Amino acid sequence: MEYEAVIGLEVHVQLKTRTKMFTRVEQGFGHEPNTLTNPVIMGLPGVLPVLNLAAIEQSVRMGLVFGAEVPEVCRWDRKNYFYPDSPKNYQLTQLHEPIVVGGEVEIELPGPSRNVMGEHKHIRLDHAHLEEDVGKLNHYDFDSLVDYNRAGTPLLEIVTQPDLRSPEEAVALLQSLRMHLVAAGISDCDMEKGQMRCDANVSVRPQGADYLNKRCEMKNLNSISGVRNAIAYEIRRQAKVYEKGGTVIQETRRWDAESGVTTSMRSKEEAHDYRYFPDPDLMPVRLPRERVEALRAELPEGVFDQQRRYMEQYDFPYTLTSVICYDFELSRFFELAHAEYDQNPKAIANYIANELQRERAAGEEDGLLPMSQLLITPSHIAELVRIIDEGKLTKHLAKDVFTEMFQTGKRPAAIVKEKGLEQEDNSDELEGILKEAIAKNQKAADDVRAGNEKAINAFVGPAMKATKGKANPQQVREIVLKLLNG
Ligand code: ADP
Ligand code: MG
Repeated sequence: MEYEAVIGLEVHVQLKTRTKMFTRVEQGFGHEPNTLTNPVIMGLPGVLPVLNLAAIEQSVRMGLVFGAEVPEVCRWDRKNYFYPDSPKNYQLTQLHEPIVVGGEVEIELPGPSRNVMGEHKHIRLDHAHLEEDVGKLNHYDFDSLVDYNRAGTPLLEIVTQPDLRSPEEAVALLQSLRMHLVAAGISDCDMEKGQMRCDANVSVRPQGADYLNKRCEMKNLNSISGVRNAIAYEIRRQAKVYEKGGTVIQETRRWDAESGVTTSMRSKEEAHDYRYFPDPDLMPVRLPRERVEALRAELPEGVFDQQRRYMEQYDFPYTLTSVICYDFELSRFFELAHAEYDQNPKAIANYIANELQRERAAGEEDGLLPMSQLLITPSHIAELVRIIDEGKLTKHLAKDVFTEMFQTGKRPAAIVKEKGLEQEDNSDELEGILKEAIAKNQKAADDVRAGNEKAINAFVGPAMKATKGKANPQQVREIVLKLLNG
């Protein structure tokens, strides 16, 4: 029997806001334990929550990015449970009337090679609701410690429909979510910092069936490879259960990355175990339509929309767009450089995708120099491409100029001047050099005379060598044609 996987994800993202969800304590990562707390976070008697508008607006923006509905009103519920990660013994969340309903996420599956676009699909979202994050428990050999710095951080839980059919699709969904949320400034989505966390619901059914089988919910998937491996493992496990004539029981399972297996944590709790009830301290939130529309108007272009536009408008190849568009910092860099010099978008994009990325990698042990630490700006690249296009610098020498400006932050025109790299009008000198080169290579000369323009390339190399790279290839062509064809 062939089995088909059915997967739905619940993705938690920490929203980018300065302060926490219901109180004005800053949110942050890597601080001394329990320094980002106050009586509200600690649930001391007599405190009241005050809603952070920024968290609401970030959530609305998320909904708009994915074409979802943002209802007029959303409400708060208490999810009651007793566990040391929450000193209040309840978590504020949205059970019945979430802030975002529906919507869909466009995903791209891996293509047959890096240079070929993969298949695109649309994955429906069920809804997204806001909740507050809880503290972090650190377990040691004989005791456990709690750090409440993370408690109260605004979390948006994005829940997909069970539309995903493979581990690859699940990974593609996370990548698309991350690209769009980062580009819109909604979350940094850094999985290593726990800013993006994911639970995966997996079931299998006979290929082609139209019903849903019982599912397992997997926890502790804290990396992309964890998501991929855990889902793949769980699909095999459930298929085996059915093959042996058994039934899958609905439960929560824990992924253990080290041993590469999932194990049962608990049978799925029912909603009423949490004794949800409307929070009496918080009013329902009314979202004025004008404000929603104002937020919509400020959203950046969608990642895949931008990619399609670059391919059409600028004739960029797929590979170039996948470097530039899938990295929001690079696409912003490109946009700014292009705004300053709009004559040659392809050259600008290539310098960003190739030279810039190479230089960023060169000085780092692993990874790339952060964009925020660059000494060069989009304006440097615009200027570099402009002086090349104006015939003042050869592409060949531009490589060294790039390295120099990257390392020093000096303007490209200044470097060219300082090092005497200007492409001079040296046609007399060049003519002498080319006469000599032609005398030495009669075969190529005959080919050019016979109309084979490609044969001119045989003279470009010697001309570059004799002028130490300052010859303009276009000028070399013209002179060779003049000398040979009169
Ligand atoms: P709960 O409220 O118990 O968390 P939901 O019905 O809200 O359950 O679904 C949670 C997640 O599980 C969603 O992402 C949904 O797409 C997914 N899901 C629901 N049913 C199945 C199934 N049979 N197989 C796989 N995923 C499922
Ligand atoms: Mg759930």
